[in-house]
Amino acid sequence: MKYASLKKTNLNDWLEYLKNKAKLYAPRKKENLFVFRPVKDVADVCLEYIPTILPPKKYYFPQKEKLFKFSAQPFKTAKAIDKFEEFILFGVHTCDIAGIQCMDVAFRDGPEDPNYLNRKDKMTIIGIECLKYCDKYANCTSMGNHLPRGGYDLMIVDVGNKFIIHINSEKGERLVKEVDFIKESTEKEMVELDRTREEKKKVFKDEFYVPLSKIYESFDESFNSEVWKDVGKKCVACGNCTTVCPTCYCFDVSDEMELNLNDGVRYRIWNSCQMDDFAKVAGGEDFRKGRDSRQRHRYYRKFKYSVDKFNRYFCTGCGRCTRTCMAGISLIDTINALAPVAVD
Ligand code: SF4
Ligand code: SF4
Repeated sequence: MKYASLKKTNLNDWLEYLKNKAKLYAPRKKENLFVFRPVKDVADVCLEYIPTILPPKKYYFPQKEKLFKFSAQPFKTAKAIDKFEEFILFGVHTCDIAGIQCMDVAFRDGPEDPNYLNRKDKMTIIGIECLKYCDKYANCTSMGNHLPRGGYDLMIVDVGNKFIIHINSEKGERLVKEVDFIKESTEKEMVELDRTREEKKKVFKDEFYVPLSKIYESFDESFNSEVWKDVGKKCVACGNCTTVCPTCYCFDVSDEMELNLNDGVRYRIWNSCQMDDFAKVAGGEDFRKGRDSRQRHRYYRKFKYSVDKFNRYFCTGCGRCTRTCMAGISLIDTINALAPVAVD
């Protein structure tokens, strides 16, 4: 079975079933924003949402996690986490699935990261395709992430009174086959899916003035651009833009000792290239002292270095960095200010 359909009236039955299979995380409303949370009551799940405050990366790359335990005398280390548990991410937008794909290539690039890969192995991803444009901050269309591009087990699309489900893995197939209210899609339903996608084209328009390949090229000539000075003047170096970004994976490590001063735990904690001391090295040299150079670095990581290294843009277009920036710095405006370099 490649496509299946689920009546909306059966959505909560399916969520109950999924909740009993594994730990289930899904979006829900929090005041006028949205967050991913463990599902306690399926009625709280909200599938019409703008990108959540934090992406679901908090579940597969936690903000603070134990790496290993150690003892100094005699010196030994031991795994801090014995068992990684199965979990399901439900209702993940295609832009956030692209974020998971970016994390995959980064954490698989040697040396492989066992904590991330073990969690990824236990994770089932059920995506939802956005049909309404979320807000003026998103740049998912220019990034090509407004459409499903793999990386999920199941993808659901709202076609009116039902969802069409694309089955993309064996793991996903089991989750639809085990319930009798999900049926194989009919030809008529596939026509409805095509019609829905056609309608979507009218709503999703490119946010950048020029195509991505031109933007990539523009970075060859943008290193000394005045744009970075303008951005640097506004930036308050809060680090929000990297914290909320689904593709930012920089971390620091710290050791916490027990009172016996012999045993301890090594943790890793999210870090941000926007922090004052991020690029400071022994001897006090700081390679990115100014906020302009730190912001420039962030953009180069998303639109140039990641393409050179991984053949992937590390911006998914979720819009969170702009949505959350207290200085009002817009990623779309910044890229469009650089873009004329490419078309001159
Ligand atoms: S969120 Fe805005 S102000 Fe804060 S570090 Fe990022 S760009 Fe600077
Ligand atoms: S750079 Fe901004 S828009 Fe791009 S993925 Fe990160 S938070 Fe989303």
